[in-house]
Amino acid sequence: MTNNTKIALVTGSSRGLGKNTALALAKKGIDVIVTYRSSEAEASSVVSEIEAMGSKAVALQLDTSNTKTFESFVEQVKQSLQDKWQTEQIDFLVNNAGIGVYAPFAETTEEEFDRLMNIHVKGVFFLTQKLLPLLKDGGRIVNISSGLARFALPGYAAYGAMKGAIEVLTRYMAKELGHRQIAVNVVAPGAIETDFAGGSVRDNSEINNFLASQTALGRVGVPDDIGGAIASLLSEDNRWVNAQRIEVSGGMFL
Ligand code: NDP
Repeated sequence: MTNNTKIALVTGSSRGLGKNTALALAKKGIDVIVTYRSSEAEASSVVSEIEAMGSKAVALQLDTSNTKTFESFVEQVKQSLQDKWQTEQIDFLVNNAGIGVYAPFAETTEEEFDRLMNIHVKGVFFLTQKLLPLLKDGGRIVNISSGLARFALPGYAAYGAMKGAIEVLTRYMAKELGHRQIAVNVVAPGAIETDFAGGSVRDNSEINNFLASQTALGRVGVPDDIGGAIASLLSEDNRWVNAQRIEVSGGMFL
C-alpha cells in the first residue's frame, strides 16, 4: 500500500450501518479508521475483515456525546495516522454514530432530549470542527440523517428534529468548507434492520410489515442497502455532488 491510498474515518463503525459503510469503503480499496463506543470486540473484528480485504484499518474508542474527549481522540487519530500510514490527514469523514430513542413528544424527558442532542447534533458539530485540520483539502464529509427528518412517525419528535438539524448543518458545512474544496452531503437512510432503537425494525414483525407496506420497493432496508450508497457517494464519480440530502429508503412514504 502506498501513502496515496485514501483513508476514511467512520464514527460508530463497530456495528450496523457504520460497519457496513466501513466494509463497503474497504471493498473499494479505501483504508478505514473505525470507531466504537463500547463494542471493542466487534470493532476489532471489523478491522480484521477490512485487513482480510487487503486494506488497512485501526479501531479507536470514541464517545461522540462527550465533547471533552475530542481533543485526546484527535491526538489518537494523529498518532494512528503516523504509525499506520505515515501521513497526517484523512480523506473522508462519515459522521454515522447514533442511537434511537423512542419517546412520544408529550413524554420525552429533558434527559432523553439532551442525550440525543449530545450525540446527534453537538457531537457531530464539534467533532467535525476538531477534525478539520486533519481533513485534506479536497476531502469529503458525509453526515447521516434519517427519513424521519422528512416524514413524521409518532415517537421520534426529538430524534427527527435533530436529524433535521444535521441536514441544515450539512449545508452550512458545505458553504463554509467549500473554499477548501471539501464537499459535504447528508445521507438519510429509511428504516433499516440494525440494532438501532432496540432492533425494532428488524425484530418486531408488526413494525417491519407496516414500514415495508409504506415503501415503494416493498420491504424495509438492510445494512447492505446503505454502506455501498455512502461509499459510492464518496467516489470520484460523485465529486460534484455537494450540500445535498440523499435519501436512501427504497422510497418510503412517497
Ligand atoms: P446501531 O445501533 O446498529 O449502531 C450504532 C453505532 O453507533 C455503533 O457502532 C455504536 O457503537 C455507535 N454509537 C452509539 N452511540 C455512540 C456514542 N455516544 N459515541 C460513539 N459511538 C456511538 O445503529 P445504526 O447503524 O442503525 O445507526 C447508525 C446511524 O444511522 C445513526 O446515526 C442513526 O441515527 C442512523 N439511522 C439509522 C436508521 C435505521 O433504521 N437503522 C435509519 C436512519 C438513520 P458501540 O457498538 O460501540 O456502542
